[in-house]
Amino acid sequence: MTNLPRSSFQPPLRMLMGPGPSDVHPRVLAAMARPTIGHLDPAFVGMMDEVKVLLQAAFRTGNALTLPISGPGSAGMECCFANLIEAGDTVIVCVNGVFGGRMKENAERCGAKVVLVEDEWGKPVDPAKAEAALKAHPGAKALAFVHAETSTGVASDADALCALARAHGALSIVDTVTSLGGIPVLLDQWGADGVYSGSQKCLSCAPGLSPVSFSERAVGVLRSRKTKVQSWFLDLSLLTAYWGGGAKRAYHHTAPVNALYGLHEVLLMLHEEGLEAAWARHGAMHDALKAGLEAMGLGLLVTPSARLPQLNAVLVPEGVDEAAIRAQLLARFGLEIGAGLGSLAGKVWRIGLMGQSATPKHVMACLGALESVLAGRVAAGAGPAAAARSLFG
Ligand SMILES: *Cc1c(COP(=O)(O)O)cnc(C)c1O
Repeated sequence: MTNLPRSSFQPPLRMLMGPGPSDVHPRVLAAMARPTIGHLDPAFVGMMDEVKVLLQAAFRTGNALTLPISGPGSAGMECCFANLIEAGDTVIVCVNGVFGGRMKENAERCGAKVVLVEDEWGKPVDPAKAEAALKAHPGAKALAFVHAETSTGVASDADALCALARAHGALSIVDTVTSLGGIPVLLDQWGADGVYSGSQKCLSCAPGLSPVSFSERAVGVLRSRKTKVQSWFLDLSLLTAYWGGGAKRAYHHTAPVNALYGLHEVLLMLHEEGLEAAWARHGAMHDALKAGLEAMGLGLLVTPSARLPQLNAVLVPEGVDEAAIRAQLLARFGLEIGAGLGSLAGKVWRIGLMGQSATPKHVMACLGALESVLAGRVAAGAGPAAAARSLFG
């Protein structure tokens, strides 16, 4: 008993500019500190209905089956696969980074026959390859892909990929964890079928919730399942009785009440700003960061047409110990950036400009801090000056 801690945990103040979580606004932290009420309290049920409407607007969809799963983005991913896929189904999975690989893992665990469409890490999914796979496997149940690959900073063409899936009678399963709130996510325009996201990337909420949305077509597939969803917790037919039921709402699990206050608040803030304005802000902060990095002599991994503004994979200069640089940024400036994963480990840093971390303050602080820890290797003063010109003329 002598080793029991005696004081509260006090997290250090950080600037979160990695692949998520991003900085959480004090308004959201305040919302999460409000009194816990019962998850079937009429007041809470009213808030759940508001969260659904706010999520539909954020996803640009009229999908009735739109709700936050109680779990991180990975739970949303699992929810899509577990509900839409049955053993024996053929699923085409596009892999161009870490998260496509996890989709493959999910599809396999559902008993699917997986057909891989592989593209190099750092390149977008090639729609021509996806189309060839759909043609070669005419009975495929779904085409799954990651819209914004956080492991590389690459955007794939969700509009084209969803259209291809539809044209071949397959469902589309789309990962929008890093895209929602940062770049256009247009579910109805795309005709996307099973979509999941996360709370802690461009929405800038605390981690732990995963918004999902399912089209009418996907709901039809759910209704005609031959077997029960193998996950009780993620079974949408049970979840909708909790999230969809109005007055006759049935207990399923105890919703993370205070976490949902946070989601309600970030969605409110997103719509106060305006979705278009939020997308434009992410774009402008990316332009400024890029101008600064280039002025310092640092390059980006991804070709300009496929770059995600909210996740910048920066090439580590020859001879630099990338982990030591990240450790110095954290120790000296409280600044967190991300490391490269998989085949990009040691080769790139990942600088996130997500949600509340996509501000001029973050861009300038990051460039100044990078310049100081890379002193002698990059041109002094050039980065922040170029970013300031990009931001303020
Ligand atoms: C972060 C992320 C996930 C997983 O989300 P968690 O909240 O960490 O479970 C899935 N897909 C993409 C593209 C992500 O960036």
